[in-house]
Amino acid sequence: MVEKGHYVLVIGGAVAGAEAAIQFAQRGIRVAVLEQNALPYGKIEYGLPKWHVKLRNKEEAAIDAKLQHPLVRYVPLTRLGRDVRLPELLRWGFSAVVLANGAWRDRPFPVPEADAYIGRGFYYQNPFMVWFNQMHDPNGTVEPYEVADGAIVVGGGLASIDVAKALMMLTVEEALRRYGISTHVLEMEHGIDRLLQRHGLTLEALGVRGCTLYYRRRAQDMPLTPMPTDTPERLARAQMVRLKVLQTAQRRYLFNFQELCLPVGILTEGGRLVGLVFCRTRIDGDRAVPIPGTEHEVRAPLVISSIGSIPEVLPDIPMRGETYALADPELCRVEGYENVFVVGNAVTGRGNIQESLNHSRRIVQRILEQYLGWDAQLYEHLNRQQESQVADEVARIARHLTARPPLEAEQISLIDDYITQLQQRVGYDGDYPRWIQRHLPKRLEDLLHLELPDADGE
Ligand SMILES: Cc1cc2nc3c(=O)[nH]c(=O)nc-3n(C[C@H](O)[C@H](O)[C@H](O)COP(=O)(O)OP(=O)(O)OC[C@H]3O[C@@H](n4cnc5c(N)ncnc54)[C@H](O)[C@@H]3O)c2cc1C
Repeated sequence: MVEKGHYVLVIGGAVAGAEAAIQFAQRGIRVAVLEQNALPYGKIEYGLPKWHVKLRNKEEAAIDAKLQHPLVRYVPLTRLGRDVRLPELLRWGFSAVVLANGAWRDRPFPVPEADAYIGRGFYYQNPFMVWFNQMHDPNGTVEPYEVADGAIVVGGGLASIDVAKALMMLTVEEALRRYGISTHVLEMEHGIDRLLQRHGLTLEALGVRGCTLYYRRRAQDMPLTPMPTDTPERLARAQMVRLKVLQTAQRRYLFNFQELCLPVGILTEGGRLVGLVFCRTRIDGDRAVPIPGTEHEVRAPLVISSIGSIPEVLPDIPMRGETYALADPELCRVEGYENVFVVGNAVTGRGNIQESLNHSRRIVQRILEQYLGWDAQLYEHLNRQQESQVADEVARIARHLTARPPLEAEQISLIDDYITQLQQRVGYDGDYPRWIQRHLPKRLEDLLHLELPDADGE
């Protein structure tokens, strides 16, 4: 028999959404999780590069366990703002709606004219990585992306290094194929340098120039590691680790790097973007200040912008700048609503890796000692940080709910029926494991008949 209580709707089923769901469920609160994709895994499935096989599997299993709690109901293929609108959801009387929809919008490129060339010489990082993660699947439905040697990547964070790595892997794989050598991403993750050495080859011999990562500040300013920078000594150490991260990644994956360069214009030809105009910069505190008169053209067959991810604009949700407008920053309550909240990366976007020392010492040590595996640890650390942030946020929301009257049993039943309707609309019968099995894409390691690689260094 249904009893009185609260019923919360969570938008997004990934690290933050699944954690929010389990936190409510463990307090005896019913939860429905609305997810726009068939799979709930978000950045883990589509953003984390596919060479992190073990980490991906581990994180996805954790999400699965949370979403299968008896008080949690999963609704796939249902996007807030497209398939359902917030006012309609609120009319059903949910005790709270919690946005855990992450940060899926690429920060706009500083030269807005580039957007007219998306797909014609210019891409943004998020859709590019979604494609990269699925391109091997013969049954996949993602549109093909172009990859070309000599590409420009604009960025400076960890994700931009992933993009540079992915581009190098794809161009080297293609070049080796011409030599009759077959390889794959999971092998190259161990180092393109090693692989080429084994075959007695170099990039030059292969005729590969490699891509170039352009950053507006200096290498030591790249937001690559979670380390405090609040004293001159700590800043110096963080800068040393950042340099080590970049240099080691370059040595292993052979991409080029250009610091102190800000894109200020685009080059176009025959309806395509064929390069960028960069301006040199000087550092003033944290800022990169353009130096007048230093503009110069760099031609490239492809440009990928990887300058950060921010929350998507959604109908009915007010924005302030790049993020959602919050009325009550403590509760992360959305402006204009009594009971709509935001948790996880959707609160702030993910411009920068949060700096925290305690959990990251091990990772930093790993970076200093060796390269392999530290990035998987860093991603894992960010996920745990995300979960603990969400747990705190849900605790505050749950306290707020206890001060409000619970929903009557009848209303809970009506909401339950509505959730069933939403599930039926997309052909989901509530059998979570079977649904996941049916929608899981083909894994590269399975196609290659590989044992799980040890690329994550575990
Ligand atoms: C390349 C990369 C870089 C990273 N960089 C950082 C970093 O700088 N800082 C940091 O803290 N962490 C970073 N992380 C870690 C990671 O992003 C987070 O810890 C965590 O995985 C994000 O989880 P999430 O649930 O908030 O967001 P996501 O994984 O993005 O999940 C959001 C979910 O909501 C769904 N969704 C979105 N919109 C809607 C909608 N309208 N309706 C229904 N469903 C919707 C999505 O499909 C998705 O499943 C990075 C991860 C990767 C892979």
